[in-house]
Amino acid sequence: MSSYTHLKDETYYNELYDKFTIEECKRWDGKKGLEDLPTIQDKDPKELKIKISFSKNVVIPVALYAIKGERYAKKSETIRQWMERDRALDEKVANATEPRGIRCLVCSSPMNCISRDLYSDTKNKDQVLFMFECSTKGHKRRAYWEGGEEWEPKPDLCSKCKAVMYSSNVREGNIITTNYICPECDHRETDTLDLSPKEKKIDPNFEADRKKYCLSDKEGGEYITWMANAKHLSSLVKDREENKEVYEAVAKIKTLAIVDLQNLLNPLIEKAGYAKLEFRKPEVKKDLFVEFTIQDSKPGRVEYDSRHGLERLIKKTLEGTNWRLMSDGISYNLGFLNGRLRGASGEDHLKELITGKDADQE
Ligand SMILES: [Zn+2]
Ligand SMILES: [Zn+2]
Repeated sequence: MSSYTHLKDETYYNELYDKFTIEECKRWDGKKGLEDLPTIQDKDPKELKIKISFSKNVVIPVALYAIKGERYAKKSETIRQWMERDRALDEKVANATEPRGIRCLVCSSPMNCISRDLYSDTKNKDQVLFMFECSTKGHKRRAYWEGGEEWEPKPDLCSKCKAVMYSSNVREGNIITTNYICPECDHRETDTLDLSPKEKKIDPNFEADRKKYCLSDKEGGEYITWMANAKHLSSLVKDREENKEVYEAVAKIKTLAIVDLQNLLNPLIEKAGYAKLEFRKPEVKKDLFVEFTIQDSKPGRVEYDSRHGLERLIKKTLEGTNWRLMSDGISYNLGFLNGRLRGASGEDHLKELITGKDADQE
């Protein structure tokens, strides 16, 4: 029993894919694609010359590079899908159940199945069709769909009056000529079928075109990296546009070193009745975290007033700077106050400080 396989060698798919790539690139390469560009349709000949030159030297090569690159990027996945599709077709043919008990219409002998293949049924769905042959030569073959329905030849209808036409075949060498005659209106039609084996046309430029238009693994890898960088860059630009206000705020932030911070706070806390601001050793994580202590120098102030007074003062003073009082607030013990500050530097960290993203995360 014969049946051709749908799945072919990987080389076949590889060359087929490259053939499509070459076709697509050729549409862009050279003069043809150039005239299609809307930017070219300009009346001023001087400007036209500049635009053509720009297209020739910049637009076309860049577009071509992107096409080559995209074709490369999708190549292995596309080939995988093609092979999977053809493998599934082969499986469908192999797993189909052969109809049993088919007999010859001439001599009633049991017929042998000689092939199974996929054909479009009346609903144009690919179905497995089995071909049966009688052991006596010349007896008409029969064909059955999987499931047991016999294949019916489609009647040839007259193009003028839709009646079923008579047909007769004449074979001369490898050419079969079919003549149709309509019994109703006498309309005639002729069809020819050439059975001579077709020579596979070899494109003499295929290898040269392939070299020109199909990227090697090295070049393809470079394209993919280039593309990833370009995408990253454009997402950065987009982020800048979308978060314009944040970036403007970041640009306005006053960045203070620890000594600047101390100089800023000292006169203000003294004025508010606190003293001896001291910083402990900072912890460097993504941002800088610094614990501080302060003494309350105002006699008779109660804990609540002392804590909240200092908290308000520090928060207000740090506005517009790269420092924040941390959310765990300020604690108080017998006139000693302490709390923690977070200092950010660098655009990304300042942006997080402003948006409150990552707030107080250590
Ligand atoms: Zn027979
Ligand atoms: Zn007719």
